[in-house]
Amino acid sequence: MSLPAVDTEYLLDFLTGLLNTPSPTGYAHQAIAYTQQALAAYPDIKLTLTRKGALVAAWQGEHSNSPRALTAHADTLGAMVKEIKSNGRLKLTNIGSLVWNSVETEGCTVFTRHGAAIRGSLLLNKASAHVFGKELTELERNGENMEVRLDVRTVWDDETRGLGIEVGDFIAFDPRVEVTNGFIRSRHLDDKACVACIAAAVKSLHTAGLKPLQSTFIHISNYEEVGHGASAGIPPEVGEVLTVDMAAVGEGQTSDEFHATLCVKDSGGPYHHGLSQRLRDLADEYGIAYKVDTYPHYGSDGEAFWRSGGDAAVALIGPGVDASHNYERTHLEALIATTQWVMAYLMN
Ligand SMILES: [Zn+2]
Repeated sequence: MSLPAVDTEYLLDFLTGLLNTPSPTGYAHQAIAYTQQALAAYPDIKLTLTRKGALVAAWQGEHSNSPRALTAHADTLGAMVKEIKSNGRLKLTNIGSLVWNSVETEGCTVFTRHGAAIRGSLLLNKASAHVFGKELTELERNGENMEVRLDVRTVWDDETRGLGIEVGDFIAFDPRVEVTNGFIRSRHLDDKACVACIAAAVKSLHTAGLKPLQSTFIHISNYEEVGHGASAGIPPEVGEVLTVDMAAVGEGQTSDEFHATLCVKDSGGPYHHGLSQRLRDLADEYGIAYKVDTYPHYGSDGEAFWRSGGDAAVALIGPGVDASHNYERTHLEALIATTQWVMAYLMN
């Protein structure tokens, strides 16, 4: 049996909407709700939220004697207000492994306790070239030397507090999504690209009137970027967990923006050999554009599941993402390949 066609328009629409939904780890509820709403279109999928806030979609399969799980994460890097400075600007603490220079001059939104969304941008404390000269290039980019300049009139801390801003408020950086010639350039393709691939796979199977071979739990995690997303929420009866997360593209890597990659080893060690072999066989059988790779600085929710005591075979696939945890980019071809691989896995 061949694979159903991927609805690329749907995939890109879903992805663009999700990328434009702010979701730093700890404040990912809007991205979870966005995904929940999309999957609510299918009556054979039962949706629940875990106590921790992850989405679990239980999809009835042809069989349920060997249930499986897919996991991808909707949370992203971001920041939190650490201190309201005497000049009214904000000092931040980073969420996940956000690298400061990757968001220098980026627009951002502060989410206050009472629901306001206040705009600003992240700059070096000494950002004016005409005032600070060489210091502008020499200062280390870190939480101490950078601040949020709010787009509201405030020059001292009490004025900023008067806006409702408090220590602990979440900050999301603008994704700056652009789709050109099949390239998708945006922050946070890690891992929203994969949530979109799963949503597109679910849609294509439904359109074709197909069910997964085995009942499958789709786990959309909300704490991956801090390392413990899928440590809870994947039902203990699953025998396999397919983690769908970005592939690391760069010098020395086989991964690229036009293929899906099977990761066989990352910072946490090797993935499950038997499940990885099966995924390679499926990719060969269906003519899916794929690579096999190892990732030098990488952890996944599959590992979080394992480290929390999860007893299942775990493997990892995903589209190649250039400049990860930075201003990222992938190509539609990699998203199609990933979606096809997810479908092939579900159907077999
Ligand atoms: Zn990720």
